[in-house]
Amino acid sequence: MMDVNQFKGHEQVVYLHDKETGLKAFIAVHDTTLGPAAGGCRMWNYDNEIDALNDVLRLSRGMSHKNAIAGLKLGGGKAVIMGNSRTDKTEALFRSFGRMIDRLDGKYISAEDVGISVEDMEIAAEETQYVAGLTKGAHASGDPSPFTATGVFLGIKAAVKYKLGKESLEGLTIAVQGVGHVGYYLCRHLHAAGARLLVSDINQDALSRVQQEFGAEIIDLNMILSVEADVLSPCALGAIINDDTIDVIKAKIIAGAANNQLARDDHGQALMDRGILYAPDYVINAGGIINVAAETRGAYDINWVNAKVENIYDSLMTIFGRSVAENRSTSRIADEWAHEIIQAARARK
Ligand code: NAD
Repeated sequence: MMDVNQFKGHEQVVYLHDKETGLKAFIAVHDTTLGPAAGGCRMWNYDNEIDALNDVLRLSRGMSHKNAIAGLKLGGGKAVIMGNSRTDKTEALFRSFGRMIDRLDGKYISAEDVGISVEDMEIAAEETQYVAGLTKGAHASGDPSPFTATGVFLGIKAAVKYKLGKESLEGLTIAVQGVGHVGYYLCRHLHAAGARLLVSDINQDALSRVQQEFGAEIIDLNMILSVEADVLSPCALGAIINDDTIDVIKAKIIAGAANNQLARDDHGQALMDRGILYAPDYVINAGGIINVAAETRGAYDINWVNAKVENIYDSLMTIFGRSVAENRSTSRIADEWAHEIIQAARARK
């Protein structure tokens, strides 16, 4: 069913069904006050157009918030391609998607998200200049995952300092759900900082790697959320904080890379009521989009990227402080702060 509540001030939503290539895609431009709407493209086997539309509306709004708090001169947008990312990809499909982006004249800048590879985006980039997250070319920024992991590591440090009053992670137990691209680099940081690692993943090779390299202890998939740990770091799936899991979480801090960790907005308050400090996902995991954003500024500048990623620590400290002072959840404070940044820029225009 169409959830009309998902339309929250979106500036433009485009749908294309290109019969020749089979492309069925939505692009949602949520807000361009801060700059062109930037956000990745997801390829997913949606049941129908309504599900795809609900998703792109929600995700594009999240990108406006993420980009605003990361201090980027970018608005929020997102694209979704309907289809099976293993079986439905063709060169013609991504060329068609590239032309779809191009018709928006730079109002939307795309990059990779779930189901989309660098190779897919490189095909789209032959039809439009409004694609980032590439590995080839003068301004290519490469794999965003190490930057996302660094941001999450700094976010964990901020949460530990705020909640536990500790400067160091030495001797703390950190449970990481998902040791893929981001999770692996995060484990490397955490191990170097002296933390004890508990990890789960459905991929045995990924588990063996962190076990061998960082001495991580493997935990059953169903136990990782309820394990005794100081910090729970979700780095796999969305919606893992929900009515079924919220009461079993023992960690006092939740700080991880996964997008859309809260199944519903009110789960942010539920975590606060249980005394769990939650680092809002789109604030702590902004390292990747910061790195991608560097491409949109012209020459890639690693110092600019590092400074912005380091700022994630301070942004989270601000959110934690406001949450306590105003007695509202960290997720709500983050949403409001992002809104304030966008409103202030709109007022200046
Ligand atoms: P990835 O696919 O490389 O890693 C995810 C890992 O989670 C995989 O190893 C997978 O096997 C594992 N996994 C899947 N289901 C699981 C389950 N039920 N329990 C435990 N592990 C499971 O993805 P990634 O790039 O590392 O991203 C991880 C999360 O962070 C995603 O939610 C992604 O949207 C988000 N994120 C990533 C970036 C980035 O720069 N890559 C940026 C922002 C947000």
